[in-house]
Amino acid sequence: MRKKLVAGNWKMHGSLTENAALLAAIKPALDGIEAAVCVPFPYLAQVQASLAGSSISWGAQNVSEQAKGAFTGEVSTAMLRDFGCEYVIVGHSERRSLYGESDELVARKYMAAQAAGLTPILCVGESLSEREGGVTEAVVARQLDAVIAAAGVASLASAVVAYEPVWAIGTGKTATPEQAQAVHAFIRRKLAALDANVAERLIIQYGGSVKAANAAELMAQPDIDGGLIGGASLIADEFIAICRAAAK
Ligand code: PEP
Repeated sequence: MRKKLVAGNWKMHGSLTENAALLAAIKPALDGIEAAVCVPFPYLAQVQASLAGSSISWGAQNVSEQAKGAFTGEVSTAMLRDFGCEYVIVGHSERRSLYGESDELVARKYMAAQAAGLTPILCVGESLSEREGGVTEAVVARQLDAVIAAAGVASLASAVVAYEPVWAIGTGKTATPEQAQAVHAFIRRKLAALDANVAERLIIQYGGSVKAANAAELMAQPDIDGGLIGGASLIADEFIAICRAAAK
């Protein structure tokens, strides 16, 4: 049986004060439930201090593919490890579209994360025009293939994949449970053709306007193993309800 994992992606939101209130609310409410929050770099020390010893892990939203050196503004995997990170999001659609991250760069970040003992949460997903053009599976396959070519299919035994249709991120438009399940099943089938064991065990999260009101239906799908949650992860009651729906 795969476990389910819900991870919050705080994006570029929060402050020391706001975070303290959010963490104080979610920590006791999620006691015993495995979850994670991926926070802006400056707040890693705060979440480490707050969440150490709890059932909530933490991570970052991006990382450099370089180990160290003259890369102004970048943050390395070792630095994330220094702050106790377990996860790092790689290939979020905002990084791909706003910062020009290619499939190959995402694969290098994924490999750097794993080499440092971090678990990458690899985001894949199609844009609205790609969905309307009928190339959803081709796009998701291409994004996965870049990682498989670089790191091998076995590497997915130590990774999480998040299927995030770009048209559903931050838009309030959630994929229907059936639409999401169809792509999740495609991902698992595709990987099973290469390594059935890895495919069976892989956590595939859904992301895109998940909220308390739609979480249970999404989480009930056989190939949806949790969620990557943006906006709703900033609202304590919403995030708690989503994590509880996944844990049921
Ligand atoms: C995300 O940022 O990964 C995301 C899914 O955002 P939202 O839940 O706000 O759509």
